[in-house]
Amino acid sequence: MRSKLVKVEKMEVVSQLAASISHEIRNPLTVVKGFIQLLKTPSLSQDAKDRYIQIALDEINRAEAIINEYLTFAKPSSNKVERLMVDDQLRKVIQMLAPMAHMNSIEIVEELQPGAIVGNIQYFQQCFLNLIKNSIEAMPNGGTLTISSCLHGNHVIITIKDTGVGMTTEQMNRFGEPYFSTKEKGTGLGTMVAVKMIQTMQGTLHIQSEVNKGTTLTITFPEAAN
Ligand code: ADP
Ligand code: MG
Repeated sequence: MRSKLVKVEKMEVVSQLAASISHEIRNPLTVVKGFIQLLKTPSLSQDAKDRYIQIALDEINRAEAIINEYLTFAKPSSNKVERLMVDDQLRKVIQMLAPMAHMNSIEIVEELQPGAIVGNIQYFQQCFLNLIKNSIEAMPNGGTLTISSCLHGNHVIITIKDTGVGMTTEQMNRFGEPYFSTKEKGTGLGTMVAVKMIQTMQGTLHIQSEVNKGTTLTITFPEAAN
């Protein structure tokens, strides 16, 4: 019975995400199509052509950013739920983001203790990719990113701590709200996707933040039974 319940919930989230992605991608595609059609206008000035091409490129980049927030790790028919080690999976995500951190003079501190939870590996990785990427983007002038995992009672606790720009109370309240972004080219979808995936894996998220000091996210999951 229990596994069935999990499956129904998961299917719902998967179809919700699929619907969101096609919705999100359609807007930039429509814009690209419109501007390419405009490029066919006879006797268009070079200046206008350059502008239209730039708009089309910006929109393609936006579509790509949206896909990255949802589907970096997606494989066809991979809605498997399994026992996963959070420390191993976090190491993989950190490895992916290490070049981005180094380019921004960010030191990464790993304090990873083994912990097992039940969830979908692709979702877990996508979720932490989105959250850790935000922490890196919050430190444009460098800083320290500390990622830890530990066991507490029958929970696995993961923290992501940055020494970045921090958030106001209003920004904290809007964390996870779709399209909320303070970045020039932000999608405002990364935290929404992460929060949904945490909920799917029966987890909770807690935020602590201070402007110009930094942010600590604490994500708690039930520990997997042996
Ligand atoms: P995006 O990164 O495209 O802006 P997200 O949904 O990933 O969209 O994040 C939404 C907003 O939440 C960000 O624009 C930022 O204002 C805030 N935010 C998220 N994580 C952090 C963090 N670690 N430090 C400061 N602000 C953050
Ligand atoms: Mg983001």
